[in-house]
Amino acid sequence: MATNDNKFQAIVSHCKEYGFIFQSSEIYDGLAAVYDYGQWGSELKKNIRDYWWKSMTQMHENIVGIDAAIFMHPTTWKASGHVDNFSDPMIDNKDSNKRYRVDHLIEAHADILEKEGKKAEADALLATMEALLGKDDLAGLKTLIEDNKIKCTVSGTSNWTDVRQFNLMFSTQLGSVADEASEIYLRPETAQGIFVNFLNVQKTGRMKIPFGIAQIGKAFRNEIVARQFVFRMREFEQMEMQFFIRPGTEDQWYEYWKAERLKWHLSLGISPERYRYHDHVKLAHYAKAACDIEYEFPIGFKEVEGIHSRGDFDLTQHQTYSKKKMQYFDAEINQNYVPYVIETSIGLDRTVLLILSEAYVEEDLSTPEKQDSRVVLKFPPKLAPIKLAILPLTKKDGLPEIGRQIMNDCKSSFYCFYEEKDAIGKRYRRMDAIGTPFCVTVDHQTKEDNTVTIRYRDTMQQERIPINKILEIVQKQII
Ligand code: ATP
Repeated sequence: MATNDNKFQAIVSHCKEYGFIFQSSEIYDGLAAVYDYGQWGSELKKNIRDYWWKSMTQMHENIVGIDAAIFMHPTTWKASGHVDNFSDPMIDNKDSNKRYRVDHLIEAHADILEKEGKKAEADALLATMEALLGKDDLAGLKTLIEDNKIKCTVSGTSNWTDVRQFNLMFSTQLGSVADEASEIYLRPETAQGIFVNFLNVQKTGRMKIPFGIAQIGKAFRNEIVARQFVFRMREFEQMEMQFFIRPGTEDQWYEYWKAERLKWHLSLGISPERYRYHDHVKLAHYAKAACDIEYEFPIGFKEVEGIHSRGDFDLTQHQTYSKKKMQYFDAEINQNYVPYVIETSIGLDRTVLLILSEAYVEEDLSTPEKQDSRVVLKFPPKLAPIKLAILPLTKKDGLPEIGRQIMNDCKSSFYCFYEEKDAIGKRYRRMDAIGTPFCVTVDHQTKEDNTVTIRYRDTMQQERIPINKILEIVQKQII
């Protein structure tokens, strides 16, 4: 069994070997922190995306979805504060030229202190860091690093540059003339596409407050330190929902969405012990309150989702910059106001990694007679890339024809996979490694009594069922 430390590496290798996730442009030695989803990864990602979309829109009468463009008018990012504020403090080690995000560098040092049994010291260090970050005290952060004798992991020295802010937005030119006016950004979050469409959706959808707008799409950030596989990417996908509310009700809705979003995670069958809330002390420029939902990845507890109480910051800013009224007339109280917003923002790629981390199991199946093991991805069936594998025992005697018929009967209902090559045991293991919850085997008995063997991935139990029950059995498990 892989230890927690190397489980992460094992997942990365498994993703590559079984067609889930590849390094982007691998034949040219790859592009840092950019990844491509392969045949099963893209299917897994699509299933997570669909599950979120359905639970947000279809299951909430007062939430609708949109799909805004990645390119937006450049003033959007001035208004949102991203041009001036969307930056992370960073520091370089002069000997190794390695660049660190200051908070990551200090947190790593706090981890070491904690492992050495100096928990109080670690907590004090983190509290001081949060306070300095809150005041944007860059000189103070450098002093904190120096006072704690924090060293670069590459050079082993404490020869640091000053702490500087580093803007994370990618820019490019729109059209053929490269001047300042044509500079636009790749969106660093999907939220602003929702805010600029607030009036369009509210009016055309005749939405009444409280209501939400959901969106899924790509976002781009020039992350300073982009390691850790799909946890931190430069091109990634977000699933965001902005919930528009009456001012004064924000605390109640903030608590509501904190609880509601955690429930969504738990609905995937993941144990509550794997989650925790982390309330922010340092708030982003737009936030009145913010917390992260953290999941215990093999690399430790890390943010997977943020819940933010944004007040009327965004709509007011867009109102100021666009000179268009971003107001709502609330007939119940006979008042016009700029609505307040509660945001839920979850990274799709981080959720893919979460689901993979949760599902990945190395099982020892050895008996006194024989050493054996398997790697199995125990995905919740509704998220599994392939739901049903159809495996004729042999390539002859009419068994493939029966298998093909089952495939034809089931494939419009869920993703099926047909395979007749290799020994059956080998085929089962391949399906375990991809996370297929059900395999049916067609054998000679099938020809006599129209039954097949169904094998369950997690228990490896097998049972005989009539062919005409397959669809129903699988469908029941994947809702
Ligand atoms: P972090 O502190 O890890 O950089 P953040 O607080 O900047 O994240 P938000 O701006 O709140 O993140 O974005 C919402 C969600 O988008 C995050 O919870 C995360 O799941 C996802 N996300 C943000 N940045 C990245 C990234 N570089 N790669 C993959 N997912 C990301």
